[in-house]
Amino acid sequence: MNNVEVFICGGGPAGLAAAIETRRRGFSVIVADCFKPPIDKACGEGLLPDALDALSALGIELTDRDSHLFHGIRFVEGMGSVEACFPHRSGRGVSRIVLHELLHKRAAELGVEFRWGTQVLGVHGQEVETSKGRIRAEWIVGADGIHSRIRRWSGLDAGRRTSRRIGLRQHFRLAPWDRFMEVHWCDLGQAYVTPVGPEEICVVVVARDRFSSVKAALDWFPQLSARLQGAEPLGAERGALTEGHLYRRVTNGKIALIGDASGSVDAIAGQGLALSLLEAQALGDALEVGDLQLYERRHKAIRRTPVFLSQAMLLMDRFALLRRWTQAAFRGSPRLFEAMLSVHIGAMPLKFWGSEAVLDLGIQILGQKA
Ligand SMILES: Cc1cc2nc3c(=O)[nH]c(=O)nc-3n(C[C@H](O)[C@H](O)[C@H](O)COP(=O)(O)OP(=O)(O)OC[C@H]3O[C@@H](n4cnc5c(N)ncnc54)[C@H](O)[C@@H]3O)c2cc1C
Repeated sequence: MNNVEVFICGGGPAGLAAAIETRRRGFSVIVADCFKPPIDKACGEGLLPDALDALSALGIELTDRDSHLFHGIRFVEGMGSVEACFPHRSGRGVSRIVLHELLHKRAAELGVEFRWGTQVLGVHGQEVETSKGRIRAEWIVGADGIHSRIRRWSGLDAGRRTSRRIGLRQHFRLAPWDRFMEVHWCDLGQAYVTPVGPEEICVVVVARDRFSSVKAALDWFPQLSARLQGAEPLGAERGALTEGHLYRRVTNGKIALIGDASGSVDAIAGQGLALSLLEAQALGDALEVGDLQLYERRHKAIRRTPVFLSQAMLLMDRFALLRRWTQAAFRGSPRLFEAMLSVHIGAMPLKFWGSEAVLDLGIQILGQKA
């Protein structure tokens, strides 16, 4: 039987980030995943500035060779739009495969061991049973995604689901038309458009109700449909569920959950990857001092604002009138949108934005109603 200090179930972004953070602190680390790299997944593929900072703390700097810069977010609905830039830094679009390759390479450089094509079948105390034998670990990390079995086996399933939607992703060969990540809104849901290269964009459509394909859903988004006219689809469409999940606890004994396994926010926030990376730092710090309670507390703090904002944005998804008022308010007072983005990427605390902006937003919305 193998012995290791940290065993990580799941070699997606959260598992690899946790591997890098713990290996950097001197732990021996094994990552096991059912699949072999590079692992793809349906994703909006947008990294906001806070995610880029966290990635650079792992020792990974994205460049124009592997990703594409965007300066802010544009909301588009019908024929109208409103946009705002991030304060100070930009975001980057990076294809999921490229991101996985970069994380995998960094973890391998540091000496992380991998068990690709290996399924984790059970946890018995400090022993992990895999499809290729047993491993004894001091710490066990569940980075096995939204349907985490580690979460179930370790008794951490208590919590609630706040949302469930379906996402379909398709890449297109098309030069990005400018330096914004776009969110196209309609009554069906949203289409997120992220530039991922000089000649490539990623489109993800997310909706509450089933839809057959990205192509069929484009009828709902006239501006985007016009942009994509004649663009060559690259590869096959890929689908995934996007869910909001809140769990009461993310640690039990010597087991910790990270990334989507520890709770998820709807894709609308574009924050899943940033959360995984920030949690990896917090987990590394906690394991270094041997105190998972520290991780439990930091995990709650990391999630607070993204959970609030994703729920607020889901209200805009559900209630068309609220969405139109909010977008009109942003158009009337662009600094409100900028402030929301600042909060979104952690550059401004929610409470600073809170009272002034909510009042301002209320006034703008009432102005719309009058
Ligand atoms: C439609 C959609 C759009 C999104 N858009 C964005 C976006 O634009 N920006 C953003 O930041 N986030 C986005 N997200 C969220 C982001 O994709 C997730 O938060 C992120 O993938 C979480 O990473 P993870 O490593 O926790 O989980 P996953 O990526 O799901 O990885 C889990 C890994 O665990 C492995 N595994 C599971 N069970 C076992 C087992 N028993 N044994 C071995 N291995 C196992 C799986 O094979 C998998 O590789 C989006 C999500 C969706 C669905």
